[in-house]
Amino acid sequence: PEGYRTEGSLTLGDIFIAVKTTKRFHQSRMELLLDTWISQAREQTYVFTDEEDDALKRTMGDHAVFTNCSAEHSHLALSCKMAAEFDAFLASGRSWFCHLDDDNYLNPRALLKLLSSYSATWDVYLGKPSLNRPIWASETLPNNKTKSVRFWFATGGAGFCISRKLASKMVPWASGRNFLSTSELIRLPDDCTIGYIIECKVGGRLLPNALFHSHLENLQLVPPSRLTQQVTLSYGVFENKLNVIELSGPFSPQEDPSRFRSLHCHLYPNTSWCLQAVGW
Ligand code: UDP
Ligand code: MN
Repeated sequence: PEGYRTEGSLTLGDIFIAVKTTKRFHQSRMELLLDTWISQAREQTYVFTDEEDDALKRTMGDHAVFTNCSAEHSHLALSCKMAAEFDAFLASGRSWFCHLDDDNYLNPRALLKLLSSYSATWDVYLGKPSLNRPIWASETLPNNKTKSVRFWFATGGAGFCISRKLASKMVPWASGRNFLSTSELIRLPDDCTIGYIIECKVGGRLLPNALFHSHLENLQLVPPSRLTQQVTLSYGVFENKLNVIELSGPFSPQEDPSRFRSLHCHLYPNTSWCLQAVGW
């Protein structure tokens, strides 16, 4: 599926894609992803969850990773999964680490195009800034004093990518048990911890990129004609309303509330169930 490549060019096989999920979303969210974008990136996608599941194991094999992290929305449980993702990436030897939530649609072609304009031998941290300003946090020092720190971070719900060069510099703070202790130092969620390690510990910088999207922004504002260029999209509830991308078909909002199936047909029209949907 990677097709022709010239020497030195990036292929999907160079990317490690980690999807964070939890037991109660295996059916509702993971099935949708497996039917859609993951079918185009099977070899490089790994799913990190908190409970054994035969159905998931059957479809993903050893790409379904059952962590011992607890199934909670606590900072610690989520950081535990991020640590597992990071360690699996380090062990994989691949050039790029990309993290996604289970309510993200990833367009592998757009991702490849984006990462091709960088080198994994540089320090690269790409994603959507969570806020329009750096966050201030209070770091606990060994003598129990605290220090104010400020940094940018990419919102985990929009997905983000890190080059191997940068990831290797993060090891003392991010690998194994270190990620949890680092996250405890600032008592903030996993995606903030990543930004803190990169900007405050190893001297890297977030490169803001407008092709990553979470459901914390109004997804109706992405013009339908620009959907093919976006690296990630999402769906969810925002201000009590369903927040989804605007796309007319081929599936109705009732059949496809997230719009991910319609989006997938827009990007991969030859998919068998897309041809059926348009009556071929
Ligand atoms: N998640 C998790 N454990 C939980 C709750 C959520 O691993 O107990 C994961 C979930 O699968 C998703 C991410 O955390 O990948 C964000 O969850 P969600 O979209 O439900 O919440 P949000 O933070 O976007 O409101
Ligand atoms: Mn979400």
